[in-house]
Amino acid sequence: MVDVLVIGGGNSALCAAIMAREAGASVLLLESAPKEWRGGNSVHTRNLRCMHEGPQDVLLGTYSEDEYWQDLYKVTAGKTDEHLARLAIRESSTCRAWMMKHGVRFQAPLSGTLHLSRTNAFFMGGGKALVNAYYRSAEKLGVEIRYNSPVESLELKDGDFVAAHTQTGKIEAKTCVVASGGFESNLEWLREAWGQNERGEYPSDNFLIRGTQFNKGVLLKNLLDQGVDSIGEPTQAHMVAIDARAPLYDGGICTRIDCVSLGIVVNRDGERFYDEGEDFWPKRYAIWGRLVAKQPGQVAYSVIDSKALGRFMPPVFPGNKADTLEELAKQMNVPVETFLQTIRDYNQACQAGKFDHTTLDDCHTLGLQPAKTHWALRIDEGPFYAYMVKPGVTFTYLGLKTDQNASVFFDGKRSTNLFVSGEMMAGNILGQGYTAGIGMAIGTAFGRIAGTQAAHVALDQVTHSVEKSYS
Ligand SMILES: Cc1cc2nc3c(=O)[nH]c(=O)nc-3n(C[C@H](O)[C@H](O)[C@H](O)COP(=O)(O)OP(=O)(O)OC[C@H]3O[C@@H](n4cnc5c(N)ncnc54)[C@H](O)[C@@H]3O)c2cc1C
Repeated sequence: MVDVLVIGGGNSALCAAIMAREAGASVLLLESAPKEWRGGNSVHTRNLRCMHEGPQDVLLGTYSEDEYWQDLYKVTAGKTDEHLARLAIRESSTCRAWMMKHGVRFQAPLSGTLHLSRTNAFFMGGGKALVNAYYRSAEKLGVEIRYNSPVESLELKDGDFVAAHTQTGKIEAKTCVVASGGFESNLEWLREAWGQNERGEYPSDNFLIRGTQFNKGVLLKNLLDQGVDSIGEPTQAHMVAIDARAPLYDGGICTRIDCVSLGIVVNRDGERFYDEGEDFWPKRYAIWGRLVAKQPGQVAYSVIDSKALGRFMPPVFPGNKADTLEELAKQMNVPVETFLQTIRDYNQACQAGKFDHTTLDDCHTLGLQPAKTHWALRIDEGPFYAYMVKPGVTFTYLGLKTDQNASVFFDGKRSTNLFVSGEMMAGNILGQGYTAGIGMAIGTAFGRIAGTQAAHVALDQVTHSVEKSYS
């Protein structure tokens, strides 16, 4: 019987598998995807948000634990477990040496509207290269990897793991780490969670999934059915406004529309509905999918004028382009007069200030509802551009309740040998909102903890309190 069974094949599962193997356990990793699609959402990532007390190779300045915590507290509006959050934050300051040991390389930050050069370390070659490096390292260490191996259910006894059931049979192990993602790719579950709105629409029918098609939440559902303690709400998720022409799955990073804070966003009725300049884009981009999900038809348009060009990462598909706003409205298929009135109201409300996209500048609107609180420049220089966006689900937050040992709980009782990491428990730290790069920080921290704990239990070693080993 194998010591540690790891279920999932993304960043968090790989961190768990490698740590468990390094601790001396035999490890089997089951990835539902075929080899060419391995790696889950992690292959789409670009960076990791890192605490650092001073400049470190690719990271500039300092980003203290408290600043990181305050950023997280703000974006989640306090819906976060401070203890677990601080654990992930602290881990992010030390995990990179271990990552590099396993072949991950970092590069200097990209420029653009994400304002991330101080806070986030970028992966050379992106998440795909990171995942490939971890697979290489795991194989070298002797982790057994099986692709095309979706686990259908877990067999439990009194909250303890007994075996995983797959189409080809039952796999027993002394301990198990579940790191099989959220349920974002399960369209039926999304429909059930979001239901029907007051307009009679099923909003999720218009959602696109930014990442893997393999995160169907099968084990999440199975464990919920078996009475696991859960965390988070089913409609809470990292959701980005992405190009409406993106594919249903795996469109990845290049379908994001990053000019929201440089212009205005209108719905299909031609009306604004939220403050586009509320905060820096990395702290706000992940709420726009949700905002668009609440609009009629679940579509919206990010509108800019020529002044914005060159200030954001250009989208992969060209947008609508017109010399006049009237012509643009016709191309967008929104009511022309309402749209023009929205632009007139906005332009009149813009106060003169000193535009600076790298700070929370003083360019704001006055007397407009909703206000635009920063980077509010008049939309008056043609040609004008519009990008139609739809909600793009990155990952869902409903997950398993956990603690500093990455343990799974049933009725408040800790399982002795079942652990969880990654998206499947990110909702403990992300009750809502998001700040760029924290998904990988949580997945790396808790993957490493889960793997270590699973190995210790399997090898019958005394489990340390994570407080001691990871402080
Ligand atoms: C487009 C995009 C860009 C992103 N960019 C960033 C970024 O730059 N920085 C950042 O921090 N975060 C980013 N994220 C979020 C990040 O991807 C996740 O937070 C992180 O990858 C989660 O890792 P994970 O291992 O938990 O899940 P995943 O990487 O999704 O892995 C889950 C794995 O479980 C497997 N699986 C699912 N069900 C089963 C089953 N029943 N049996 C066996 N295996 C199963 C899947 O095939 C997959 O391999 C991005 C996400 C997307 C989609």
